[in-house]
Amino acid sequence: MNALLNADLHCHSVVSDGTLTPEALAERARANGVELWALTDHDEVGGQHRAAAAAKAVGMKYLTGTEISVTFADITVHIVGLGFDPDHPALVQGLKRTRGGREERAREMADGLAKVGIQGAFEGALQYVGNPDLISRTHFARHLVESGVCRDTNEVFRKFLTEGKPGFVPHRWAQLGDAVRWITEAGGLAVIAHPARYDHNPTREYALFTEFKAHGGRGVEVVTGSHTAAEYVKYADLAIEFGLAASRGSDFHSPDESHCDLGKLPYLEGRLTPVWELLADRIQ
Ligand code: AMP
Ligand code: MN
Ligand code: MN
Ligand code: MN
Repeated sequence: MNALLNADLHCHSVVSDGTLTPEALAERARANGVELWALTDHDEVGGQHRAAAAAKAVGMKYLTGTEISVTFADITVHIVGLGFDPDHPALVQGLKRTRGGREERAREMADGLAKVGIQGAFEGALQYVGNPDLISRTHFARHLVESGVCRDTNEVFRKFLTEGKPGFVPHRWAQLGDAVRWITEAGGLAVIAHPARYDHNPTREYALFTEFKAHGGRGVEVVTGSHTAAEYVKYADLAIEFGLAASRGSDFHSPDESHCDLGKLPYLEGRLTPVWELLADRIQ
């Protein structure tokens, strides 16, 4: 399998902060021409057996996936894991620990919103939650749109849910080395998700890539729904400079919110080593 493969190795279901079930995502991916798919719910592998079965049912190849939140240099960074054993105890336990604390954080977020006159946001957000362990900012955003406080989720994040805004609560996630280790010990490959989306200066970005590699990380997302064409080139260059394989994924969450649909992305450049080449024996 070469770079010219319609692989979509990043998306979310109701098991985290997406709005579609794993089965509906598999059907949508297949209809969009996806040949190799991974469901990568945030900090959770609870949808993996369903996703693999759904992929098989529609005749699509599958890699297991997750997207782990880590704190690196005081910033939240996301690490995608691919091709692991979803029942591996180190991974399952590590993810369980990192999910713990989301409810308390959500209550603090609601307290912050109450101070600016938005009452009942915790209960409101809960109405959109598919997995009680995984209440996220996305669920607050959906509630604030549906209740008419904002026009769209982007506006909610801009006004209420990002650093310095009333509903933002800083959170300590797992450490970079932990996330890479859980993925690797479970037989998978760790990938830096959407690297252009972090507020790092170039020195910090270099440190992230260097430490990620030192911990055993092997890949970086180059073509993702949240990168521009210029960023595809920048991170293709960085992948080559750091000897990392390249990944491709839409980061699709919902037909109503995501601007990039499953599988609707440019191919990886031929000069890159695709992550699926390193995971050939893990493809189901
Ligand atoms: P959390 O893990 O609770 O901090 O929520 C993070 C999630 O919020 C991400 O996975 C995205 O789905 C979503 N998100 C983050 N920033 C934005 C934004 N600016 N606009 C829309 N969604 C966002
Ligand atoms: Mn998300
Ligand atoms: Mn992410
Ligand atoms: Mn994501």
